[in-house]
Amino acid sequence: MLISFPAVATAQDGYWPEGKTFCVTLTYDDGLPSHLEHALPQLKAAAFKGTFFWLGEEVHRWSQDDLDQVREAGHELAGHTIFHPCPRKFDWVKAGNASEDYNDERMAKELDKNLANQINNGVEQGTATFAYPCGCTYIDEDKHSYVPLVKERFFAARSTRNGIEVPGNGNIDLFDVKTIAGDQHDLAFQLAQVDAAKEANGWLVFMFHGVGGDHLAISADDHREILRALQEDDSVWVATFQEAAAWVKSKQENANAKQDNAEPGTPDSATKVK
Ligand SMILES: [Zn+2]
Repeated sequence: MLISFPAVATAQDGYWPEGKTFCVTLTYDDGLPSHLEHALPQLKAAAFKGTFFWLGEEVHRWSQDDLDQVREAGHELAGHTIFHPCPRKFDWVKAGNASEDYNDERMAKELDKNLANQINNGVEQGTATFAYPCGCTYIDEDKHSYVPLVKERFFAARSTRNGIEVPGNGNIDLFDVKTIAGDQHDLAFQLAQVDAAKEANGWLVFMFHGVGGDHLAISADDHREILRALQEDDSVWVATFQEAAAWVKSKQENANAKQDNAEPGTPDSATKVK
């Protein structure tokens, strides 16, 4: 008998809350005008909450009114640094603001400010999430990781690594959560990702930039079709990045605690030898 394996290893059903069999998170990077123009009304119509990784200060593209609008609609506001440091190899990176131009001190300061911006906009202390600009997790000329600085301040972080997480199969790294880029390939590809996540009882985190405008855009129609497909599926839990990460974290902590209790050699589990 020929057995074909799915691309993503399937986890046991029963992992997700309220009888849902898989999870989809809708994330939007960079605080773009098209999020307000297209994504927000579409999310409202579908009654879904998204996660918005926005920037502040010099590359602030949203006004305080815009931020209030996103927060009051119940969406998650989340961190993405302030100056959006990315590797110097990209020609659009401003001199002085490349990943290589940062040391720990500068990045720590910027993350502090970034976190404070979330808290000032209603995010609860200890729950703020983060997305690495350009998916780049290193700084300085020696390209060392700044993930420890993110861990000290944020609850979880989304990477730009391509893929679908299946936390039901074992612990995942909540500071390196995989994603599917919404601007890549066509609508059929995006809908196939939803099917793959469902098949695997997994967690699909969509990463959108522009929606019907701005950079790395998905068309407004395609974005609406993805939401429609999710609306039509009773088995999906559409959760913010924070909600889903909190669920996975508690499951992982429970599983780890159980494992600790079942350590061999303890009186209960020791094999009796006559
Ligand atoms: Zn970005």
